[in-house]
Amino acid sequence: MEVYVDRIFCNGCGICVDLCSMGVFQMAGKKAEPFRQHLCVACFQCRDFCPTKAIAPRWIMRVS
Ligand code: SF4
Ligand code: SF4
Repeated sequence: MEVYVDRIFCNGCGICVDLCSMGVFQMAGKKAEPFRQHLCVACFQCRDFCPTKAIAPRWIMRVS
């Protein structure tokens, strides 16, 4: 999973930090940053509860 946060739309409420059971997010400069996105389990809670719809977890395929 790749977790994308649109910093323009993020209002710094911190809901995603409290909500994510995997601890993916931290606040940085009053914006949410997905510092540990490798831990994401694709529950989509952050996407569904972000009040500004700033978060987009998405599947990515790596070809080695
Ligand atoms: S829930 Fe949305 S608006 Fe709130 S801190 Fe997280 S990304 Fe920003
Ligand atoms: S989809 Fe779930 S596990 Fe992944 S960052 Fe959002 S709340 Fe955390």
